[in-house]
Amino acid sequence: MNAEIIAVGTEILLGQISNTNAAYLSEQLAALGINVYWQTVVGDNRQRLSQAVQTAEGRSDLVITIGGLGPTDDDLTKEVVADYLKVDLVPNEMAAEKIAAYQKRTGKMLTTNNAKQALMLKGARPLANLNGYAVGDFYANPDGADFVLLPGPPREFKKMVDSALIPILQEQSVNPQLLSSKVMRFFGIGESQLVADLADLIAQQTNPTIAPYAKPAEVTLRITASGSSIREANQLIDEIVSQILARDGDYFYGYGDDNSLAAVVVKDLVDQHLTITAAESLTAGEFQSTLGDVPGVSAVFPGGFVTYANSAKERLLSIPPEIVDQYGVVSETVAIWMAKMAKEKMGTDVAVSFTGVAGPDELEGHSAGTVWIGMAYQNREPQAFLYQFNNGRQQIRDRSVLTGLDLIRR
Ligand code: ATP
Ligand code: MG
Repeated sequence: MNAEIIAVGTEILLGQISNTNAAYLSEQLAALGINVYWQTVVGDNRQRLSQAVQTAEGRSDLVITIGGLGPTDDDLTKEVVADYLKVDLVPNEMAAEKIAAYQKRTGKMLTTNNAKQALMLKGARPLANLNGYAVGDFYANPDGADFVLLPGPPREFKKMVDSALIPILQEQSVNPQLLSSKVMRFFGIGESQLVADLADLIAQQTNPTIAPYAKPAEVTLRITASGSSIREANQLIDEIVSQILARDGDYFYGYGDDNSLAAVVVKDLVDQHLTITAAESLTAGEFQSTLGDVPGVSAVFPGGFVTYANSAKERLLSIPPEIVDQYGVVSETVAIWMAKMAKEKMGTDVAVSFTGVAGPDELEGHSAGTVWIGMAYQNREPQAFLYQFNNGRQQIRDRSVLTGLDLIRR
């Protein structure tokens, strides 16, 4: 099944708001195994909307419009779709009652415009609007593409998608196929590289489908399969997962929508009964704050050091000033000292340190993005690793934090 999303609204065309609703919907449809082949944006204009509807119907099995269900004259979607499909608009009783109750409560008069929000395509299933008044439509079209009409305000839209549309799509799916999906998370590899590595798998696959998604500094793959049982769907997923791991397992760090590198590291530390601390110059506490995002981290993280200035490195970590003078603060030696001393002072099993140039200016002749990450891990000889990051101050610091987490994991 393939779908087209039509977002209706001149303010989207003008760039005044982003089409976040379509993004959300596309993601949900992908998870259901429904391919979105087209996303269209069209202004609040009767003729062009009608044209967009016609084009979409000609090339899609499912057409979903977003916006233009409101009470005002520029809200045209229902009328245009009704005209196009040559079906009448009829009031939905529940929606009309809800509007009437609102008007009674607030003392506002019922106008024809408000009543408009209760109109539906004749024969459509209503999609209840739990956060507003305009009712949505699911119209199973006997002659062509099915139509879904959704409201524009994100709060109304999202609730309707989650609580009304998705259950219908699940129940409608052609044969009673059951869907399962799994998210794989990668760090240290770019989206384009990952997609290139998996190009043949991505191209071949219709079941499961593989959908890549790039976030700052990480990439996820959502793998969705259908089968006559969840078990069968999961087997298909497992087969693809092992092929992916065979190619890019080095960069894979975990499964799941809500997972994070920090959560994986904290879990590993908890499982291994290892405690951790950090000494941060470049990142000024961001690494420790990221650890703090993970519930339960207190079991493994007693605290640590933010040693931005050289004087703090001396006072808190007892690093002799001569060391900093001799090697420079952006150096392997200082990174190692920081990790070693942090571990010793806090009495933990592991310590990580960060020193480098966040920029924009260079420091000690090193360009912005030069980063040393130190690692003192149990009884191993402390080490430091050199990186060159780019893309500005915050990205350099974010990237350093994630790379530090990745080093612990390895
Ligand atoms: P209303 O009853 O508010 O008029 P509506 O269903 O007619 O709702 P629109 O008038 O098209 O929807 O949009 C209302 C508001 O919802 C817009 O001003 C915008 O802030 C937001 N919105 C509409 N479409 C989108 C979209 N595709 N993505 C994100 N936000 C949107
Ligand atoms: Mg509107």
